[in-house]
Amino acid sequence: MSTPRPMGVPARPNPDEDADVDYATLRPGGRHHRPIPEPSPLTRHGPARVLALCNQKGGVGKTTSTINLGAALTEYGRRVLLVDFDPQGALSVGLGIPAHQLDRTIYNVVMERAARADEVIIKTSVDGMELLPSNIDLSAAEVQLVTEVGREHTLGRALRPVLNYYDYILIDCQPSLGLLTINALTAADKVIMPLECEFFALRGIALLTDTITKVTDRLNPRLEILGILGTMYDPRTLHSREVLERVVQAFGDRVFHTVIRRTVKFPETTVAGEPITTYATTSPGATAYRTLAREVLARCHDE
Ligand code: ADP
Ligand code: MG
Repeated sequence: MSTPRPMGVPARPNPDEDADVDYATLRPGGRHHRPIPEPSPLTRHGPARVLALCNQKGGVGKTTSTINLGAALTEYGRRVLLVDFDPQGALSVGLGIPAHQLDRTIYNVVMERAARADEVIIKTSVDGMELLPSNIDLSAAEVQLVTEVGREHTLGRALRPVLNYYDYILIDCQPSLGLLTINALTAADKVIMPLECEFFALRGIALLTDTITKVTDRLNPRLEILGILGTMYDPRTLHSREVLERVVQAFGDRVFHTVIRRTVKFPETTVAGEPITTYATTSPGATAYRTLAREVLARCHDE
């Protein structure tokens, strides 16, 4: 007989009680491990699949995931372009680029007919990964675009000339569902939703899913949700485990099997201005983003 629990303390799964469940292979969120195929090398590059990392909440790991998923994809031989589409410029800064000093950024590419993306794109410290940088100038675009014809298609139009050069274009969205984000969703083939493993995180997902449905209906019929990515997961807290389990219950296989744990290594990489895959090559965080890259490749049928 088990000892009674004090009130308010939830039950923990007891491995001895359920002989059918192999807890050693159970992953965060309560799912079983599924092998992810090793991607094969590419013989040619492009056209790029465009993935938007989107969640209207700030601080959920969009920028961190854009940098590290991008860097991990290059390790599998994929050519990657990261698009900083947040006027905060955190993606650019996180790659060690002093974005506020740049004369030309994505702002010029979206607002000026004469400015071409390939003239503004810069190399990063990671071989095979390039960046379309942004800074505070982009905040003016949101206002100026309102009166443009075809305003939602501006980013898609700007990226078209470089599509054939890359295998993946990752767009780091700003934390809102405003016109810049709508542009990102209109330019994208797929959406990745980073979701912090915190209770209130679930609320925002309905609104985001709604927006995605509207964009699919009205602007971009090829848009699909590639997956929901659990971030800032702390396996030591019951809370984190419960949130992830609820997300898996609600969204099933849409949730990536890869879950990114909370670790101080990520803030450190921002200061260092490089991805975790080069900053701490063998760390669990680097391994997690490599696994995510394989899952993304498999979901994009790019094996
Ligand atoms: P967003 O782009 O959604 O606003 P960020 O990627 O900038 O979110 O992350 C917000 C903050 O949290 C940053 O300081 C970042 O370094 C940190 N962070 C991101 N992912 C993790 C993680 N898995 N564990 C701990 N800190 C993280
Ligand atoms: Mg960000």
